[in-house]
Amino acid sequence: MGEATKVWFLSPEVEPFAKTGGLADVAGALPRALRSMGLDVRVGLPYYRRIKDQPVSIDLILEKLEVPLGDLKLPCKVLETKTKEGIRVYFFEREDLFDRPQLYGNAEGDYYDNLERFSFFCRGAILFAKMIGFSFDVVHCHDWQTGLVPAYLRSVYRNDPFFSHAGSVFTIHNIGYQGLFPRAKLDACGIPPREFHPDGIEYWGGISLLKAGLVYSDVITTVSPRYSVEIQAPEFGLGMEGVLQKRAQDLHGILNGADYSAWDPGKDPHLVAPYEPGSADGKKKNKLALIEEMNLEASLKARPLLGMISRLSSQKGCDLLVQVLENLVGLDAGVVILGSGEEKYETMLLDISRQYPGRVAVRIGFDDPLAHRIMAGADMLLVPSQYEPCGLTQMYALRYGTVPVVRATGGLDDTIVDFDPLEKTGNGFKFGPYEAKPLLKAILRAIDVFKDGETWQGLIRNGLKEDFSWDRSARKYAEIYDSLVRRKREGEIGGPEDPV
Ligand code: ADP
Repeated sequence: MGEATKVWFLSPEVEPFAKTGGLADVAGALPRALRSMGLDVRVGLPYYRRIKDQPVSIDLILEKLEVPLGDLKLPCKVLETKTKEGIRVYFFEREDLFDRPQLYGNAEGDYYDNLERFSFFCRGAILFAKMIGFSFDVVHCHDWQTGLVPAYLRSVYRNDPFFSHAGSVFTIHNIGYQGLFPRAKLDACGIPPREFHPDGIEYWGGISLLKAGLVYSDVITTVSPRYSVEIQAPEFGLGMEGVLQKRAQDLHGILNGADYSAWDPGKDPHLVAPYEPGSADGKKKNKLALIEEMNLEASLKARPLLGMISRLSSQKGCDLLVQVLENLVGLDAGVVILGSGEEKYETMLLDISRQYPGRVAVRIGFDDPLAHRIMAGADMLLVPSQYEPCGLTQMYALRYGTVPVVRATGGLDDTIVDFDPLEKTGNGFKFGPYEAKPLLKAILRAIDVFKDGETWQGLIRNGLKEDFSWDRSARKYAEIYDSLVRRKREGEIGGPEDPV
């Protein structure tokens, strides 16, 4: 047997250390699945302020790694912890860059120096691997914050023998976040000016770190098969469709897995009454508890209760949500929303909740325990996204006996099958056009089935049969790594630069 494939897994957020969305869930769970398959995976992320407050033992292992940033060389500290599965996680610390309340920005917008922050992280991660002799076979990068890693390997470190066998995989979790910066910042990240052209890091006169990841990586993946097709067209490619069409041969759609160890109603520490998946009685207890916690009318016990757990952005369908909320109240349904994001949605939703106390409850903020209680207590989960690379909440919902009502896009379309009341097939409700009426119709169909208790339980059972655990997806990533390692070895891709 050969040596285990070495994977340097770099992500700007990783559960349980730092999370703003599904990327963190993936970066927490996928390395575990890969390790259980025997791969040598190590994880790297910045050392944000919130990590300091966590009850994990993290050791300082390197006082001073010199990391180039513009004309300077700045010292970086490196810390390490080991997960209970034995995965080494490395944190890159520089107080002036990462010791801040949020990961990427505050209410006024993105942090002004995000390019510097994430260049520092990317370059630090590459140099650190070399320093400790971690000769990774594959560096697996996630979203724009890590897009410079493949770019450095193909430019600055192209002729460094330490990296000559290393392949790069870049995963798009959301193409809407493109890491756009002015041309003037090119020097700061240290990518040579000769890479500034439309087939390189340039994006319409500026630079895009997402595009850097797309152009310079050996393999590109995204988080569902459907999204991998959608992003090659303008509606979903959001300006990157041309680059992706060119790289269509190297682009793969691999559905995210659901982390059933964190999302298991039978062992969920956040629930008032954990319940075996499929237990109608267990679900009822959690619904009652949620109604009480949210100060909703007791009469909702017997009526449909809809939940939504989401970033509040236009991507997530907030415009549609706002349009249908009043109708839902008219239908005698209750709604619980947990979210944070754009201020205009936060304000609109809070306004509506004040208009309909007892019927519409809105909590603004990021609250993982509450997310679990809503998942367990609601009858249906709304995911009306405009676009959705994969989406995780609909997968968790199926496990919790909460029926998803989703828009047929991206991973939502790949995972949810519309319920057919005659055949009794399907696991949720789907609608097509991004408009309020089709959403409302899908909710009405759901409510109709809800009224027929037996059929509803059958629908829930259909959902419970789905298995989105990570094993299958992790195997696909491992296959991609293997093929990349082989192609690198055989010199098919990315050899040292030919002398000009
Ligand atoms: P995205 O990554 O686009 O935000 P996903 O559905 O892939 O969407 O993942 C969202 C993750 O973030 C889920 O684990 C969900 O439970 C969680 N989440 C989203 N908003 C909140 C919130 N306000 N509070 C707690 N958890 C949230």
